[in-house]
Amino acid sequence: MSSENSGRPGDRDLGPRGEEIAENLRVVRRRIEDACAAAGRPPDAVRLVVVTKTYPASDVRLLAGLGVRDVGENRDQEAAPKAEACADLKLTWHYIGQLQTNKARSVASYADVVQSVDRPRLVTALDAGADRYGRDLLCLIQVSLDGDPGRGGALPEDVPGLADAIAGSRHLTLGGVMAVAPLGVEPARAFAALAEISTRLRAAHPAATMVSAGMSNDLEQAVEAGATHVRIGTAVLGVRRLLR
Ligand SMILES: *Cc1c(COP(=O)(O)O)cnc(C)c1O
Repeated sequence: MSSENSGRPGDRDLGPRGEEIAENLRVVRRRIEDACAAAGRPPDAVRLVVVTKTYPASDVRLLAGLGVRDVGENRDQEAAPKAEACADLKLTWHYIGQLQTNKARSVASYADVVQSVDRPRLVTALDAGADRYGRDLLCLIQVSLDGDPGRGGALPEDVPGLADAIAGSRHLTLGGVMAVAPLGVEPARAFAALAEISTRLRAAHPAATMVSAGMSNDLEQAVEAGATHVRIGTAVLGVRRLLR
């Protein structure tokens, strides 16, 4: 819609890329609302994290102008300069990728949420990084749902120990759990398994209520299973050109 005919106060000319993102966002927000309605959950029960990996800071700026407050990145070398270029926007930066211990310090300098905590050494390194930068980090435990932690994620049986380690850190707060539906597993089954892990986690850590699940192709199943956060890239920004 152009600024002349939209008739909505506050609208401005977004340019073609802005119009494209705005339209995609409308569709995704509607999908989330519809999924909430279908699951009998309130429309604001699920928070949208737009995954901006491979897309430029200018897209992050457009997203912020369209009301997006949460963005996700999966590589430190890309995320660090982007977060710095967008510091004035005061967004919440979610680190969602596999994280090498030697990058933890850098990530702690700009991330607000680290969704991919999957081993004790990372807890130690993130806490040290947060200390160094005088920051606090919200941490989610990434869980591997296919028993193959090769692509990141802790085994379900390792979640309680990791949770205690995070909760016992000085600068880290335990937020909850995160998972990616494994290839070859029905997303609904995977997210149901994650919901069970979340229930067990909350028995010991009642405040750890976040469940990050669902991407462009399976957000409905994630919302049905109780996700509180969905991580959406392609459906908002388009098909990524670079393979990740
Ligand atoms: C890239 C990525 C997403 C977004 O995936 P889309 O299919 O593009 O929506 C979500 N979560 C993680 C961990 C990712 O790496």
